[in-house]
Order: sequence, then C-alpha cells, then structure tokens
Amino acid sequence: MKKISRVQGPLCTRCGAPFESKSSIPHLCSKCIEKPGPVDWTRSLFIYKEPVASLIKGLKYKGDRSCLKALKTLSRPVLEKILKDAPVAIDGTDSESTCVVPVPLHENRLRKRMFNQSLLIAKSLFTHMSIETSIVRRVVDNPPQSGLSRKERVNNVRNIFEAGSLKDFRHFIIVDDVITTGSTIGEMAKILKKKGVRKVLAISVARTS
Ligand SMILES: [Zn+2]
Repeated sequence: MKKISRVQGPLCTRCGAPFESKSSIPHLCSKCIEKPGPVDWTRSLFIYKEPVASLIKGLKYKGDRSCLKALKTLSRPVLEKILKDAPVAIDGTDSESTCVVPVPLHENRLRKRMFNQSLLIAKSLFTHMSIETSIVRRVVDNPPQSGLSRKERVNNVRNIFEAGSLKDFRHFIIVDDVITTGSTIGEMAKILKKKGVRKVLAISVARTS
C-alpha cells in the first residue's frame, strides 16, 4: 500500500491550511487574517491522494462499504489526536451542547445515490456524539463543485442551505468527505452562525492541498 499522506503542521488555526514552513507554530494564514471565514476551526485527516482518494471515491460513487470500513480504520487514530486541540470538547463530555452535522445532499441527489457519504463517515467516526440530519437542509440542487474556480465555487453554493431549530445545540461540527476551497462548509457555517450558533468546527477526511 502506498504511504498515506497526513496533513502535516503547522496549520492555520482557522481554515486548517498547511503552511510551507515546517518550523513555526500554528497561526492564522494570510487569507484568514484578511477575511476570517465563518468556520472557527477546520481540520482534515489526510491529503486527498492515494489510497485515501480511491477509498472516498469507492464509497461516494459505488457505495462500497468496505471503503468506509477502511477509511474508519485509517481515520480513527488520527482523528483522536486532532480532536485534542479542538476549541470545544468533542469526546462526548459536552455532548449536550455540541452536535455533528454531515454536509447534507439535496433530496434529488440523495434519491439517486441512496445514501449520503458524509453521514456515513460521521456515523463511523463520531460514535458518541449526536448526529443531526434535520437541522440543516440543502434546499438548492446545485451542480457539483468539481471543475469550478474558487470564485465559481463560492457562487455555486450561495444560499443552498437552510437551517431549522438548533435544538439547544450551541456548537456544531460539520463533517464532509473532502474539503477543497472550503466554500461549502463556509456557506453552511454562515447560516448556522446567523441562527446564533457560537462555534462552528469542520472536519473532513481529506483536503485537496
Ligand atoms: Zn486560514
């Protein structure tokens, strides 16, 4: 098996982007200093390379549950370490005020695919947390983000989500399979913050760079 690429620090304390220099401690990147996004803390477990990329694709496009199982085995020890630095407790001790929200699919896509890969990932990684699928809905069936520029991605996800009752949760952890520019998680975090959520965190299995 090929060597698995972890996301190596130092990382931006907000968007999770790795810095070129390996010598300094984690700090904000220039983009987050200039214009901080609505996600307070973002972490990805791996770089989107083989074998992780094939496992994600196998799950997402073929519904291959053995890929989910392999991702779970690879991810859990890495996630455990990463969560120690999270700004809210994510070990089940603060479960009353914190919930996990997988990035929702639009009902049209859910009907075709029959499952939401982000929900499956969330369930396999956050076994002691409340996983909420009814608070945030994807109300616009927007085209896939792949092949779009950063600016087009931001426009493509604008106003595609709606949030209902927060059910007394104050902190939200968004779970996604892959983060590319962060536009989708940013848009989700934006509507959650508008509803009064205090902290929005985001975790993905992989990031593209
Ligand atoms: Zn940043």
